[in-house]
This record gives sequence, structure tokens and C-alpha cells, in this order.
Amino acid sequence: MPEITARTASLGLRFNPLRRAARAQAREYDLPLLRDDAEGLVLESYYGRIAFLSRGEGVEVALHAPHAEYLQVLKDALVAQLGAAAPGVADAIRWSDAPPEGRLPANAALMRVLGVAPLAGGFLRITLQGDVTRFTDAAIHFRLGLPPEGRAARWPTVAPNGATKWPEGADRLHLPVYTARTVDPARGQLCFDLFEHAGGRATQWARTAQPGQEVLVMAPGGGGCLISGELRGFADETAFPAIARILEANPDATGRITLYTDAAGAAYPLPDHSWLQIDYAEPERREDMGRDAKAAIAEEQDIFLWFAGERELATSVRSAWRALGRRPKDAYVSAFWQKT
Ligand SMILES: Cc1cc2nc3c(=O)[nH]c(=O)nc-3n(C[C@H](O)[C@H](O)[C@H](O)COP(=O)(O)OP(=O)(O)OC[C@H]3O[C@@H](n4cnc5c(N)ncnc54)[C@H](O)[C@@H]3O)c2cc1C
Repeated sequence: MPEITARTASLGLRFNPLRRAARAQAREYDLPLLRDDAEGLVLESYYGRIAFLSRGEGVEVALHAPHAEYLQVLKDALVAQLGAAAPGVADAIRWSDAPPEGRLPANAALMRVLGVAPLAGGFLRITLQGDVTRFTDAAIHFRLGLPPEGRAARWPTVAPNGATKWPEGADRLHLPVYTARTVDPARGQLCFDLFEHAGGRATQWARTAQPGQEVLVMAPGGGGCLISGELRGFADETAFPAIARILEANPDATGRITLYTDAAGAAYPLPDHSWLQIDYAEPERREDMGRDAKAAIAEEQDIFLWFAGERELATSVRSAWRALGRRPKDAYVSAFWQKT
């Protein structure tokens, strides 16, 4: 795949502490190290490669990504991490590819609301109009950028150090993640299904959104819908749209998915899936989602684990998977929402 590269000049950082920090990150997030020696460390991530190269008293950073959107994600991650430890160094970064300062970041686009319609299962189906060419089966999630209710929108821009400069204070955006349910590049349309829940700012936005209204879409986000191996899935409503994408994209997959919802939620429309078993857990067993997943992975070998639900449950399932020594590449375990 062709790739684009952005480099910094030598930064005023020492290589060895940076190397240790990068190794720790690689361990925590199961990221492969393509190189790790006294002169350089190269980390592979979903969004591309990050290289730290020892340059005498300093360190040069090189980012390699398949496209500008992912390059932006890598720059944001790097600047945020360095900014926490060495804010002066992070502010002073300048990139070889001269990013478009003051404009929308490459992974941000403005789209317009085309319509909002109720959908069975307690969802709203929202259709947006705009450039959707960045959505593929390999990148199905995105962030919505919603301005505070009743306030004129202020959108993010690229800062001189290449990172995204977000509107702050009263203009701060709400940035929930959603799943593109359908994408129609020819018509420039994207649909997503929003699970309505009490107190949700996105729910409130969707209920009052008007056709033509502008909204920020940050994409592509991580996560695809192509799977391999015997699927063992666990999902609550927030992940039903992702499950629908998985069913459409993997007509040869075999396995079993358990869905956690109430009686109403079971009406969410899923595509044909006769080749794959889908069960609905008893409504009162919602909280058992994590326990069920842990029991399944303890008993069942040779599965691809797919788990998406509340953060605490996802964290405990991820720990259980690791504790059993199972391979990270055989599991997708993700926190889709968080109790507050
Ligand atoms: C990769 C990914 C893909 C996702 N795809 C979808 C999708 O396609 N459709 C979808 O509906 N959601 C999806 N989600 C989940 C969604 O991002 C969260 O539910 C998000 O918090 C919603 O924001 P909000 O503005 O509604 O709630 P907020 O205003 O952020 O939170 C308000 C309150 O609601 C609570 N809350 C948040 N989510 C839920 C929930 N699901 N049930 C009950 N209480 C909740 C919070 O704890 C908080 O107390 C996805 C999340 C991820 C990470």
C-alpha cells in the first residue's frame, strides 16, 4: 500500500527514556515492534508506523501512514503523549509535510443531516450527506463532533505543531463514537443507528437535528468488520450496528453471537445470518455479559472473540483473555460506552 511520511527535525529528547516509554506502550496495547535497538525503535500501530531515531543528543520522529487521515491520528497521538511529558518539545514540533495550519484536520469533515427516522429496537437512524469515500469495511467507526446545545459550532483546526486544536471551554465539542451502518459513496450518504438512552447528549442532538444542519465527522476511526475463524461474539445495543456490518461482510463466517438487550432492543433489524447463530440473553442478564464471555473463553478454544459493551466489563474480559495467554490478534475487545 502506498504510504505518506512526515518527519520532525531532531527534537530535544533523550532516546533511551523514550525507547523505554515506547516499549511500555507496545506491551500495553499489544503493538508489534518492528525495530528496537540502540539507534532506533519502530512501532507498528493500526494507523501506521512510528519511528523514533536516535540523532546524537536528540531524537527524530518519522511517521508513515497509508493516507493523510491516519497520519493526522498518529500526529495527534504523538503530540499528546510528548505534551504530557515535555510540553515545550511538543509545542515546538514542525513536520516535514507542512500540514495545513488553521484548516480542518485531514481526518475531519463537515457533513449535513439529511434525515432522522425512528428505527425498531429503540434506535434512531440518522442519514448524513457529504464525502464518505474514507469509509471501508476496514474502518467502520467514526466520531461525531457535536457543539454544545444552543451554541454556534466552532470546529477543530490544525495547530502549527500539526496536532488537532480543539475548541475549548464553552465551545468544547462532544465527541461520541458511532458505527457507519450503511455507506453509499455514489450518493455521498452515510447512515448510522443511534441507540437512544436517557441523558445522552447525542440522543438529544439527534431528536432535534434539522435537515441541512452541519455536523463534524472524524473518520476513519479504528476497527473493521472483517473477521476470521470461529466467531464468538458478545454485544450490547451500542454494538448492534457493528454486528450488522459483521454479518454483511462475512457471509462465510461460522460461530455464535450473544446479544444483551431488553425485549424492545431485540427488534433491531439484523441482516440475514442463517449461517451463524444469534442468541438473545434474558433481559435481566445484561450485567452477566462479562461473566458469560469469560466463561466462554475459558471453555472454548480456537475462537475469534468479539466483545463490545460497557467499559468495566470490556476491561475484565480483556484481562481474562490475556491471563489465559490467548493471542491478542484472535480477539477484538472494546469499551463502547462507560457508566458514569
Ligand atoms: C467503536 C464504537 C462504536 C460505537 N458505535 C455505536 C453505534 O453505532 N450506535 C450507538 O448507539 N452507540 C455506539 N457507540 C457507543 C456510543 O459512543 C456511546 O454510547 C456514547 O457514550 C454515546 O454518547 P451520548 O452522547 O449518547 O452519551 P453521553 O452524553 O456521553 O453520556 C450521558 C450518560 O449516558 C450514559 N451512557 C452512555 N452510553 C450509554 C448506553 N449505551 N446505555 C446507557 N447509558 C449510556 C453515560 O454513562 C452518561 O451517564 C459506539 C462506541 C464505540 C467506542
